[in-house]
Amino acid sequence: MKLLDGKVVLITGASRGIGKSIAEECVNQGATVAFSYLSSEERAKALEAELSANGGTVKGFKSDASQFDQAQELVDQVIEAFGTVDVLINNAGITRDTLLMRMSEQQWDEVMNTNLKSAFNLTKAVQRPMLKARKGSIINMSSVVGVSGNAGQANYAASKAGMIGFSKSVAQELGSRNIRCNAIAPGFIETEMTESLDQKVVDEWRASIPLKRGGQPKDVADLAVFLGSDMSAYITGQTINVCGGMLM
Ligand code: NAP
Repeated sequence: MKLLDGKVVLITGASRGIGKSIAEECVNQGATVAFSYLSSEERAKALEAELSANGGTVKGFKSDASQFDQAQELVDQVIEAFGTVDVLINNAGITRDTLLMRMSEQQWDEVMNTNLKSAFNLTKAVQRPMLKARKGSIINMSSVVGVSGNAGQANYAASKAGMIGFSKSVAQELGSRNIRCNAIAPGFIETEMTESLDQKVVDEWRASIPLKRGGQPKDVADLAVFLGSDMSAYITGQTINVCGGMLM
């Protein structure tokens, strides 16, 4: 018996990075996986093929998580393909880092829409099927900077803090229907999102982390699997850090 046997998991933004690793681990744990991407069509097809070849039931969908109508359409398509959504993982996210002094309205809006509004869009869309099933697990990919703030990331930190407030509210609203909602707050995880950072900044970061290394996508994926599974049946409304002790 695997941890996610019989569950349908929908992950936003799984063509690469943390989302991709979550898709891989969910398949390893027996889940049927639907995932979305925005522009990485080839990578999405490759992931679908790779995981299907390993015996998984996996389908990628091109869908912009920041768009309300597309989120509803995505969930409709997933239900048509797989019958339900048991676990929703709101993972899609972007950065547009700069100091507030230089931050444009567009940079603010893009980050808020992709990171925070997307969680609203997808949660609204899965609410009905989850209520009908009287069960569900919603996992929102926040960040340690949503808890601590970070200079140069006012838009990103605000979006990630918003996801924590959103998760706690959803947990309170839907708990009586056996629908759980938690946030994951990764620290410094080595993906394309962090690749563009200055090497000196990365080295300083690693040195300041108690576990003395950056996190790997699988470190985050393992928690997502746990929160999606019935092993976490009594956990809701929580924000759990995956940060090597960076934030305590
Ligand atoms: P990444 O490597 O940049 O991948 C981002 C993923 O999101 C891609 O699959 C991308 O699809 C997708 N995406 C972006 N905009 C989208 C949209 N509008 N609709 C649908 N999909 C969209 O990022 P990552 O490092 O894996 O981060 C994943 C999540 O973890 C993000 O929410 C991020 O904020 C959070 N996080 C990351 C770190 C870190 O250190 N890496 C730390 C804390 C939190 P395309 O490939 O098609 O563009």
